[in-house]
Amino acid sequence: MSNLIPPHGGKGLTKCLLEGAELDAEKQKAEGLTKVSVSQRVKGDLIMIGIGGFSPLTGFMTKADWKGVVDSCLIADGTFWPVPVTLDVGSDEAAAINVGDEIALYDPEGDEIMATMKVSEKWEMTAEDKKYECEKVFMGEGTPTAEEFWKIAEEDHPGVQMVMGQKDVNLAGTVKVLSEGEYPTKYAGVYHRPEESRKIFDDRGWSEVAALQLRNPMHRSHEYLCKIAVEVCDGVYIHSLVGNLKPGDIPAEVRVECIDALVKNYFVEKNVVQGGYPLDMRYAGPREGLLHAVFRQNYGCSRMIIGRDHAGVGDFYGMFEAQTIFDRIPYPEEPGKALACQPLKIDWTFYCYKCDGMASLRTCPHGKDDRVLLSGTMLRKMLSEGGDLPDHFGRDEVVAILRSYYEGLTEKVEIKTHKAATGD
Ligand SMILES: [Zn+2]
Repeated sequence: MSNLIPPHGGKGLTKCLLEGAELDAEKQKAEGLTKVSVSQRVKGDLIMIGIGGFSPLTGFMTKADWKGVVDSCLIADGTFWPVPVTLDVGSDEAAAINVGDEIALYDPEGDEIMATMKVSEKWEMTAEDKKYECEKVFMGEGTPTAEEFWKIAEEDHPGVQMVMGQKDVNLAGTVKVLSEGEYPTKYAGVYHRPEESRKIFDDRGWSEVAALQLRNPMHRSHEYLCKIAVEVCDGVYIHSLVGNLKPGDIPAEVRVECIDALVKNYFVEKNVVQGGYPLDMRYAGPREGLLHAVFRQNYGCSRMIIGRDHAGVGDFYGMFEAQTIFDRIPYPEEPGKALACQPLKIDWTFYCYKCDGMASLRTCPHGKDDRVLLSGTMLRKMLSEGGDLPDHFGRDEVVAILRSYYEGLTEKVEIKTHKAATGD
């Protein structure tokens, strides 16, 4: 008997990944189907649907699902879901596909068929629809009016660029997933399916598990957040994005090495598990914080650590908007349909010389000059410029790994900072 939180949606883990003889037969069938190339975002979504990370979703959204999610974070059957999961195709391609057809979803980068799908609906995504989605999903307290938002969003917001760059027709339907891409081999031991993380937690006898979302190298603030979580839960799951990143981001294998070094040297190892997930960032700030909680629930986590500017980009979102959004979302009454994973809200954390340790705005009475403000963006910027880091910014073991990575880079990366990174 597992004491872990049940998967989201009330239907268990809704895996769509085929295995064994069923997989072989479907692969053979797929060769004869119309092939549709998918984006890297769709590839990540497909793998998550395949392994049950996106339970209860079993395919791509209909127009009614999309509208419900964009407007009020609810799919058409009334289940909570915070961001659209849609499959876009060009109008020429779409013209040759009819409702009821089976198609093969092909990843051009990995040169393999990722899934088959039975098309249940074909719907147009107009430029107006895309703009509407962007305003509902990506606008935050940092951009109070739509006019201000559009002045900067198309140039500076990667999430907006992704949505506006989508093709003009969406296909809905349930999928049969045939591959997890390169993840199981490239990130062996780190990449988990939800059933695997759940087994690890069960074997340790855990029930309350907190998840830490990571896309930057783990620094002192992350370490502190994890330790707060370890104090109040049975354990913490350090869950890194191993999907695609922005240029200038640090590759997953380097980040994984940093986490290993931290866990080995600064944690009680039996209270920590490290894992990786295959999804791309959507840069949706508060809404993405909700998505992070949804899929962590599927991985077996009952708490999602939400710190300052979670999943933020530029200055589009309020510093703590990803925490307060949990108080504003609908909680449907029907069993399983509400988000059950709750946020572990933690204030801005930093090293304080006067406190002589890690602290937060809730615990430290001192001023800005006494504190070393920590952010992943600042850490990357300083390291890429080859300068010295302030004391207490990172653990020596981690800084050494990152330095050797930057020294090996042949091309210099430029890293933009913004208000959220500098603490101004
Ligand atoms: Zn202090």
